[in-house]
Amino acid sequence: MSLDVAECERARVARDPRYDGRFFTGVRTTGIYCRPVCPVRPARSTNVQFFPSAAAAEIAGFRPCLRCRPETAPFSRAWIGSRATVERAIRLIVEEGALDEKGASVDKLAERLGMGRRQLARLFARHLNASPSAVARTARVQRAKRLIDETDKSMMEIAILAGFGSLRRFNAVFAEIYRRAPTKIRRGRQGHSGRRGQGDRDAQLVGCRGAGLPRR
Ligand SMILES: [Zn+2]
Repeated sequence: MSLDVAECERARVARDPRYDGRFFTGVRTTGIYCRPVCPVRPARSTNVQFFPSAAAAEIAGFRPCLRCRPETAPFSRAWIGSRATVERAIRLIVEEGALDEKGASVDKLAERLGMGRRQLARLFARHLNASPSAVARTARVQRAKRLIDETDKSMMEIAILAGFGSLRRFNAVFAEIYRRAPTKIRRGRQGHSGRRGQGDRDAQLVGCRGAGLPRR
């Protein structure tokens, strides 16, 4: 799928909530990707790149923003339009963990959808700029991130619930995507309400000077 760059840019700068889930913005200077509604001051246009899926942003080397939390973006069907097959495939992967079960494979998923593996891969490449496996990996990380933020479950429990199969695998993938260990993210969560205000103020100050991007 080719995103309309001008349209994405307008939505990003306006923080238009109607576009939430339809695209993600990678900021080259920070290496972070965001939802269109991110509360952090928008980066300069020359430093951003748009992606049709979180998985595509991660494949390109961007890590999820800890402020707008891409894992909480709504599931958006608008951008896939009539491609009901892609939508159904995403639902099976994201909501049912169709590629997480033991013995699961892209072949079997494609078969469930009444098509071949190659055809499914082509559809994913066109609409999401990512493979079914990459979308499944992002879905696992996002499930885990939500459990870290919203529950007090142990990392072992989260690893299994999120579909990683083992704690070792969870730690490795999570560290790759977030560039930090899952336990660090949870520690960062505790008592963050006090720091959040400070962060907003810092962002504004940096923005006022026009001196590039706030640290995240
Ligand atoms: Zn953000």
